Amino acid sequence: MSYNVNEKGYYGEFGGAFIPEMLYPNVEELRQNYLKITAEPEFQEEFDALLKEYVGRPTPLYFAKRLSEEYNTKIYLKREDLCHTGAHKVNNTIGQILLAKRLGKKRIIAETGAGQHGVATATVCALMGLECIVYMGEVDIKRQAPNVARMKMLGAEVRPAKSGSKTLKDATNEAIRDWINNPVDTYYIIGSVVGPHPYPDMVARFQSVISKEIKEQLLEKEGKENPDYVIACVGGGSNAAGTYYHFLDEKEVNIIAVEAAGLGVDSGESAATSALGKIGVIHGSKTLLMQTNDGQITEPYSISAGLDYPGVGPMHANLYTTGRAQFISITDAQAMDWGIKLSKMEGLIPAIESAHAFAVLDEMKFKKDDIVVINLSGRGDKDLNTYIDYFKL
Ligand SMILES: *Cc1c(COP(=O)(O)O)cnc(C)c1O
Repeated sequence: MSYNVNEKGYYGEFGGAFIPEMLYPNVEELRQNYLKITAEPEFQEEFDALLKEYVGRPTPLYFAKRLSEEYNTKIYLKREDLCHTGAHKVNNTIGQILLAKRLGKKRIIAETGAGQHGVATATVCALMGLECIVYMGEVDIKRQAPNVARMKMLGAEVRPAKSGSKTLKDATNEAIRDWINNPVDTYYIIGSVVGPHPYPDMVARFQSVISKEIKEQLLEKEGKENPDYVIACVGGGSNAAGTYYHFLDEKEVNIIAVEAAGLGVDSGESAATSALGKIGVIHGSKTLLMQTNDGQITEPYSISAGLDYPGVGPMHANLYTTGRAQFISITDAQAMDWGIKLSKMEGLIPAIESAHAFAVLDEMKFKKDDIVVINLSGRGDKDLNTYIDYFKL
């Protein structure tokens, strides 16, 4: 069994491309070209050079000594927090902007929730001198003012989505509407392993540099490529997909996916999609989705804006259903406590999303010789206000 996408765009029963007819030419153009273009040597050279010189890759694989001592196991942190713009998201936007250029696109659109993907998109558009329009829910624009300012400084136009709950889901709908109306010159950069095929596979491939580097770095540090555990938080699932990618078929590597339980899985205020979701279609993909009995999407909740999504990418839905990955949900309170703990123990202030992944250390038992790799997907600068309000700092 393969845990990767098949030629029809499915991971097991999940994935596919459920799109309105008017979007078909755009998605089909991408599907026919993405593997061909990304396999070209000039593409790979430019992608690798930008990851190195602009993003700052390879990111270190840091042995967390104090944490390892406390938990009596070997804990390594993959330092995606050191990427330019503060998280893994830029790995994907660099890849997609290079693809957009080769497809002759002049105008870039994106959706954003907390603003991190919007900032990563605005950054690469500035880098390439391309027009950038970012759709963002009106509520999120108010909540995430510093990221709105960043996008504006980078030359992007931020357009408010005023329908529905005025958050990420509505911003995505607006971006799709824009794409339908501008099919020829516009490229839509999606920010996670979600959306219609080929997006989940394409984004996973761009993020797979994370596990490629982990293998090389572990070989150097431990004399073997495979850890015993890889752990990552899952919103849409892109940092996790990148962390797992080259380990999917390595049976001895245990894959741990961490979801946001919010106030608790059964509290009604949660974003634990695998625990609460049922099969449905969201944003062009068949996947697990939080919904009411009659199929209305349920509003998700997490203190971390990056995990606050009612669905999950089709790769992860399949990893859950097949049992290849173990899913664990972590509450706001557990994650926030880890924000402080990691800061005090290792001098690393994590993004609240990433802090969820660390709480697994309190939920699972590891052996002394186990090699445990946790993906530190981003740094906590963007979350300072949330930390200040929560802890009255
Ligand atoms: C956006 C974000 C996430 C969640 O998105 P994924 O696609 O699930 O990776 C996680 N961590 C950080 C730091 C983020 O900015």
